[in-house]
Parts: sequence; C-alpha cells; structure tokens
Amino acid sequence: MIITIDGPAGSGKSTAARQLADRLGVAYLDTGAMYRAVALAAVRAGVDPADADAVTAVARRSDIRLICGPRAARVFLDGVEVSDQIRSADISERTSLLSRIAGVRAELVARQRQIGKDLGSLVTEGRDQGSVVFPDADFKFFLDASPEVRARRRFDEMRAHDPGLRFEQVLSQIVSRDGADSTRAVAPLLVPEGATRLDTSDMTIAAVVDWLAQRIGKKGASR
Ligand code: C5P
Repeated sequence: MIITIDGPAGSGKSTAARQLADRLGVAYLDTGAMYRAVALAAVRAGVDPADADAVTAVARRSDIRLICGPRAARVFLDGVEVSDQIRSADISERTSLLSRIAGVRAELVARQRQIGKDLGSLVTEGRDQGSVVFPDADFKFFLDASPEVRARRRFDEMRAHDPGLRFEQVLSQIVSRDGADSTRAVAPLLVPEGATRLDTSDMTIAAVVDWLAQRIGKKGASR
C-alpha cells in the first residue's frame, strides 16, 4: 500500500506522514530530506548551484540514507549524520533552487521508486509524490494551510535553535519558497490528480492524522 502526502512547507505533512505511518505500521519516507542532503553535498563540494550538470553529478554520487522513525527522520550523507545541518534556512533556500534541476529530480525519483518497490508499503511525503513518483498510489493526499499558519509552525520549530529569528522573516521565506516550488517547470508543487485536499489551518496534528486514517480505513474497507 502506497500513500502519498504532498503539500507546501509547514502544511503539517511531515509530522502527519510520520504519525500515520507509525499508526499503520508501515515505513515513512521524507523525500524533502533527500533533496536537502543533495543541497548540502553540493555546498560541501563547492559546486556552482547554477551548474545543472555538476549538481546532477553530485546527486548521482551522493550516498543518502534515511532512518525515518515515528518522531524524526535521521539523515546520513556519505555515511555521516547530517540531520541538523540540512534543516538550516540557508539549506532550505538552496534546496528549493536545486530541486528545479531535471537531472537531480530524475536521480531522486528513481531512488524513491526503488525504495517503494523494496518496501512494498509506505507513507511518502514531498511535493511530487502523488503526481510524478507514485501516480498509481493507493491513497493520495494534499495538505495545505494559510501562509500565516504555516509560517507560525515553522517559526515555533526554528526559534528554539535561533532566538533572534523574526516571524516576518520566516513568513517571507515560506512565501518565496512556495512560489519557486509552484512555478518551476519540472514537477511543480500542485494538487495531484485523484488527491484529496485538506486544509489543516485550524486542525491539530492529531486531528489531521485521525482524518487521514479514517479516509484510508473507509476506502480500504470498501475495496
Ligand atoms: O519538505 P521540505 O521542506 O523538507 O523540502 C525542501 C525542498 O525540497 C522543497 O522546498 C522543495 O523545493 C524540494 N522538494 C521537492 N520535491 C520533493 C520534496 C522536496 O522538490 N518531493
């Protein structure tokens, strides 16, 4: 059983996907972490982010391993843990730029499909999981929330690490990243065909997970 959850930053999809996978007893895949790991690898290799071929070569040779548990995703790049480094604001911005590169996407899409094949069942989250990577998924969801709510969630998460952070700064970063993700030519952020959309602005994560589990339970039972 493949379940895809797509949506913009701060829509609650990562936490919801993790908890849903835990509840269903299946694996969870954080595909954003894979793009983030490539961005970090490119910085470390001193590659020009505008050089699509060089960045694609970095993606191809990077060994990216994920341990996606119910509480957090641990990420290893070439054998070394980079879970914290890939979450900085700088890497978020670089990731959004690099994820436009068709060669990078082709490499990561192939790896994601292979993970799906190897595991058989999983909850996978990102921007293109229901549209490009697993178009025949059993269940497809698209989570959204207002930009202010999404920025507030990110701000609350990030402030612990960065006490000087301003809310307006996070809001403008989120709006510009979504703009870039939604308007890129390759695999833009969109509601995949056949996906059920949910606005999580006024919902707790527990309510979102209940809602998702209910949809799966009902449809699963009637199939
Ligand atoms: O989900 P997360 O915020 O970690 O994703 C970081 C960035 O990676 C996104 O802004 C997007 O540009 C890119 N991404 C993507 N396709 C995915 C997952 C993430 O393009 N499936």
